[in-house]
Amino acid sequence: MTPIYQTSTYAQAGPGEHQGHEYSRVSNPTRSALEGNLAALENAAHGIAFSSGVAGIDAILKGLRPGDHVVSMDDLYGGTYRLFTQVFEPFGIDFSFVDMTDVEAAARACTDDTKLMWVETPTNPLMRIADIAALSDVAHAHGADVVVDNTFASPYLQQPLDLGADLVLHSATKYLGGHSDLILGAVCTNDDDWAETLRFQVKSGGASPGPMDCFLTLRGTKTLHLRMERHCANAQHLADFLAEHPRVGRVRYPGRPDHPGHETAARQMTDFGGMISFELVEDDLDAAVAVLKGTEVFTLAESLGGVESLIEHPATMTHASVPPEQRRAIGLTDSLLRISVGVEEVDDLREDLARALATLD
Ligand SMILES: *Cc1c(COP(=O)(O)O)cnc(C)c1O
Repeated sequence: MTPIYQTSTYAQAGPGEHQGHEYSRVSNPTRSALEGNLAALENAAHGIAFSSGVAGIDAILKGLRPGDHVVSMDDLYGGTYRLFTQVFEPFGIDFSFVDMTDVEAAARACTDDTKLMWVETPTNPLMRIADIAALSDVAHAHGADVVVDNTFASPYLQQPLDLGADLVLHSATKYLGGHSDLILGAVCTNDDDWAETLRFQVKSGGASPGPMDCFLTLRGTKTLHLRMERHCANAQHLADFLAEHPRVGRVRYPGRPDHPGHETAARQMTDFGGMISFELVEDDLDAAVAVLKGTEVFTLAESLGGVESLIEHPATMTHASVPPEQRRAIGLTDSLLRISVGVEEVDDLREDLARALATLD
């Protein structure tokens, strides 16, 4: 097993005569092993690990300059939206938020200053599907690079670089780590210039992950395929159950044929993932809270992608930083609930949801 190199510095035989590592902000053997592993999983030449997913996003954005423009999905991880609008907009980066399920809309949003297209698919929390290959063509025609936040799919289900993207971002905190016991981010790319920029950002900005978290992520990746297969099978079963339930309104799961992105998902993913969002028939905050408080196997918590099932309320939790008007505009309703389906026995999960929904009777 890769050792945990719990060290900040490395003995040198003479000035500059080191064994490849000088100081752990810049590089560390445990981290290097993880970076090679993640690059291999994404069919990438380079993997760069960060202290969190948002630190990876931050490093990519620092590769831009004031006046540069980013076309971004309008339905984004809340922390990404906050970083874009509250940190980088004040520094003079411009953002357009568009519904990227509409490739034409994404094309219309591109300007001469567009340097990046920021794609999330499946999106968080609305589970929309964006066509990575079609969007990459549009971005490249405008001279822009494409970033895909691949956190929800994991490299086991979707490999964006093979579909034309230039950079892949991961919150390894989620499926890659897989056990809700670490915070870590990564960017993978085949672009040598981007890799150099990102390594420079880690060295200069210091968003380096510690060796213990790198070790745990490495260990997580060894069971990624087993976990993902169970996450997907459990989620498909629960999505079908929820869709038939009289208290449940719209179910958003790309594995269901009634999902508008089902065909695109079937083309670019090998399975449909472990995340489901659903609304209640009665779009009411109190009803949503009653369901959240009624589950026992599903734990009420933020985050996703761990072996244990979680339930949360995007409007007041993960996406509270998205302004109410913006939430309504994209269809993030008050009763929307998001579940991260774990790897437990599926009958226990289904009965737990049935029990929680029965509290509304
Ligand atoms: C969690 C998450 C992030 C941020 O990652 P951290 O590791 O929490 O910093 C980014 N994108 C998506 C889709 C996420 O779910």
